[in-house]
Amino acid sequence: SYVPRLPAAGETIVGSKFSQGFGGKGANPAVMSARLGAKTALISMVGEDSFGKEYKEDLIKNKIDVSHVGTTSKAATGVAPIFVNDSGENSIVVVKGANDYLTKECVESAKYLIQNSKILLCNLEIDPKATLHALKMAKSFNIRSLFNMAPATTGLEDYFQYCDILVVNESEAEIITGMQVPGVQEAKTAAKSILQKGCQVVIVTLGENGAAVMSKADDEAVHIPTPKVQAMDTTGAGDAFCGSLAVFLSTKPELGLQESVYRANRIAGITVLSPGTQTSYPHWKDLPPELF
Ligand code: ADP
Repeated sequence: SYVPRLPAAGETIVGSKFSQGFGGKGANPAVMSARLGAKTALISMVGEDSFGKEYKEDLIKNKIDVSHVGTTSKAATGVAPIFVNDSGENSIVVVKGANDYLTKECVESAKYLIQNSKILLCNLEIDPKATLHALKMAKSFNIRSLFNMAPATTGLEDYFQYCDILVVNESEAEIITGMQVPGVQEAKTAAKSILQKGCQVVIVTLGENGAAVMSKADDEAVHIPTPKVQAMDTTGAGDAFCGSLAVFLSTKPELGLQESVYRANRIAGITVLSPGTQTSYPHWKDLPPELF
């Protein structure tokens, strides 16, 4: 729903427009990755309802392998009502529904898929135990993993050692570190602090300021800025960033980490120029040639 401002508790406000689109922290980066031409599969769960049926059809349209997208009768397909205000800021309520029924066993049944992938991308919009299991599987097969620790909570200390690349935004970095992350400098400090928890690379995304990156070999985090754009709707920008980054790291390793982050910034920056989530994700053939 497009609204002049985000409603306060107990308040009813009049919005200007409503639209419905496909989203979710699993499917969004999968769609981004597939639109960049990468062979992509999704491990997920939908409900036995019209949303679930339509979603599977849409994933197939996006050339995503859905052989591990299961269906459950125990809950409705996950949804996430979003408000976007006139400044392009959003607030989101995630109702995970069927995603909670994606079990460790479901992940285990995708063993062959994970084992034969170049990179595994995970998030926390499913049962966190299933995510941890997937990260452990990837590690045991020596498959690189990119973990978008979102939505972030505390008590995830076990996860860090099993993921290679950890991506969080500023508010997630605050939850994980307990420190305030209002800008670039603090994000660099947060990245350094998170890195000590056990992963190989930490990336803190910074909205219009790009991202801060630090890997184990570095002494300090590096800021990768991004060109200024006229943001219209930032919903799903972080997911586009993760999906693009996964593609660059796995299909263009010669670019290196910082250039890959720069290009992922630029692609995420394109997605904020138009409304919606997956609807704003570009196809590789529409990108400026220097980006792909
Ligand atoms: P999330 O969507 O998870 O809150 P961010 O807001 O940090 O994450 O955005 C993720 C990435 O999207 C940023 O690192 C940046 O590359 C891009 N991005 C987001 N907002 C803007 C913006 N206003 N202008 C340019 N790029 C943006």
